[in-house]
Amino acid sequence: MLPFAVRKFLYKGCQRVVTRMVGCVFCRIIARQAKATILYEDDQCVAFEDVHPQAPVHFLVIPRKHITSLNAGLSGEELLLGHLLQVASRLAKEKGIDGTGFRAVINTNAEAGQTVFHLHVHILGGRIMRWPPG
Ligand code: 5GP
Ligand code: ZN
Repeated sequence: MLPFAVRKFLYKGCQRVVTRMVGCVFCRIIARQAKATILYEDDQCVAFEDVHPQAPVHFLVIPRKHITSLNAGLSGEELLLGHLLQVASRLAKEKGIDGTGFRAVINTNAEAGQTVFHLHVHILGGRIMRWPPG
């Protein structure tokens, strides 16, 4: 396998090329230039169904502001980050997965599986979750 630094360099390059070519898909959803099943929105965030659900319930909560990931400078974003979790929790309750349980996931960078570089909280539920995650 290639050394980590080389993998990181190649991945960053690909990411920049793709974003330059097609723009950020989540910003496009926010702007209604791309379709999504919106569950909730307010002045700070938007929540919508994941297009490739990995569980009976699988939705995403994203900030309106384009923040690439938890690796971005997040000072001053404490209220926004808390708000995303509060909305996620409320929607999980509405979806009826609060009692049985659900998982909140924020994949950060390539080796954690991040594919869309606009911060998002995955909420998955409606089935038994295994640990450790793959
Ligand atoms: P990541 O892999 O970055 O943690 O998660 C990105 C998620 O966004 C994936 O679960 C993927 O299915 C979802 N996704 C990617 N493109 C779209 C899209 O155009 N619409 C919707 N609704 N979800 C998307
Ligand atoms: Zn974006």
